Amino acid sequence: MTNAAETRESIGKKNLGKDLYGLIERLYPICRSITGNGVRETLKIINEYVAIQVNEVPSGKQVFDWTIPDEWNIADAYIKNEKGEKIVDFKQLNLHVLNYSVPVNETMDLEALKKHLFTIPEHPDWIPYRTSYHNRNWGFCISHNQFLQLKEEMYEVRIDATLQPGSLTYGECLIRGQSDEEVIISTHICHPSMCNDNLSGIAVATFLARQLEKRDLKYSYRFLFIPGTIGSITWLSLNERKIKNIRHGIVLNLLGDKTKFHYKKSRRGNAEIDRIITRQLKHRYEDFGIIDFYPYGYDERQFCSPGFNLPVGRLSRTPHGEFPEYHTSADNLDFVMPEHLAESLDLLLSVVEEIESSEKFLNLSPKCEPQLGKRGLFKQIGGQSETKDYQMALLWNLNLSDGEHSLKDIEERSGLDMAILKDAAEALCKVNLLKKI
Ligand code: ZN
Repeated sequence: MTNAAETRESIGKKNLGKDLYGLIERLYPICRSITGNGVRETLKIINEYVAIQVNEVPSGKQVFDWTIPDEWNIADAYIKNEKGEKIVDFKQLNLHVLNYSVPVNETMDLEALKKHLFTIPEHPDWIPYRTSYHNRNWGFCISHNQFLQLKEEMYEVRIDATLQPGSLTYGECLIRGQSDEEVIISTHICHPSMCNDNLSGIAVATFLARQLEKRDLKYSYRFLFIPGTIGSITWLSLNERKIKNIRHGIVLNLLGDKTKFHYKKSRRGNAEIDRIITRQLKHRYEDFGIIDFYPYGYDERQFCSPGFNLPVGRLSRTPHGEFPEYHTSADNLDFVMPEHLAESLDLLLSVVEEIESSEKFLNLSPKCEPQLGKRGLFKQIGGQSETKDYQMALLWNLNLSDGEHSLKDIEERSGLDMAILKDAAEALCKVNLLKKI
C-alpha cells in the first residue's frame, strides 16, 4: 500500500470510529428496558442510520415457556430529604432507578428506605445497574459513599413509572443477498445508560448493516435489535419457519473497550462460523480468547438451545462480568473508545468477507475413497512416497468436502497451499467426484 493509501485508510477508520462513538453518545442518555418508550426511541435513532422494521408484540402473549411482560415506562424518580433537596435524581442518571420499578409515592424513615437501596461497597463511587423484571419491586441504586452518609430522617420517595399492558418492541433489518440463506446478527437493546454493555453492540451492528447495505451479497443478513433473553425468545417463537435458512449467526456486545477479543463458540463447537471467526482472530492477533459454549451469557443461549442448536457464536472484547465496570455507572462514555469500536467493526467486516467468499464442494462418491488411479488422478505405481502435495490435496478435498467444510477449512486443516487445493478440486469436479455448492 502506498503512504497516501495508508493515510486514507487510517483517516477512514478514524472517522468511522467517530461515527460509531457519535451514535453511542446519542443513545447514552435514554432510559431503556426490556419494553417501553426507551426502546422505541432507540430504534427510531437507529432507523436514521439504517432502515429497520419495528415490531410490537402485545403483553400477555405466550412465547414458548415465557409471557411478554407488561410494558414499563418512567417519567421521573427521586428521593428528597427533609429539607426538600433531591439527593437522588433519576434525571441526573437513569441507573439510579431499579429498572422495572413499580410506582411509589411515600414518605419513610431511613430503615425502611435502606431495604430498597442498592450499592457496590467494593467500588464506593460507582452506581450499580440493577433490574427487577419478574418480581414487582421498587428501588434506587446509589454510590456506597452516599449510602454511608445518609442521615436518620424522613425521606420523600417518588417513582413516577407505569407498569401495565402494552407491548414488547424490537427492531429487525433484513439486507437481502442473492440467496435466501441467512446470516443472523443479534444485539440487545435493553440496557439504560451504559456504553460497552449494550451500546457498543448496537453501534457496531448498525454500522455493519450500513456497510452491507451498499454491497452485492451472496447471503442475506438479518440484524436483530432485541431486548436480551425475552427478545430472542420472542423472535424465535414468532419466526420458527425462517430458522431453516440460518447458516451462520453472531451475537454482538461489549465491543468498545480496549482489551483483546473473545469469541464464544456455538453449542455445536465446530460450526463454520466458529472456524471462520477463530481463523480471522488468528490472522490478526497473537492474543485473543476462545471460549467453549456454556449455557449462560447473552442471546446465544436461546439460539443455541437444543431445540434450535443454531450455528450462532458470540463476539465480545472482555466477556460480561469480567471487568469491574460491568453493570455500573463506570461503563460510561469514557470507557469506550472510537478506535476500539472501529477495530471491532473492521474485524466483523473481514468475517463477512470470508463468509461471502467461502467456496465449498460436495463429494459425490463419499462411501469409501473412490478409485483415483482409474480416473488418471493418482500415480500409477503404488508404494512411492505418499506425501506429494497434489495427491494429498485430492484426498483432503474428497474427505472434507462434506458440505460443511470450505476450501479455507481444508487449507487450514491440511496445511496445503490454496492454489494446489483449488487445482485438485477442479480436477475432481471434471471427473464428477466433486461438485461445487
Ligand atoms: Zn448487561
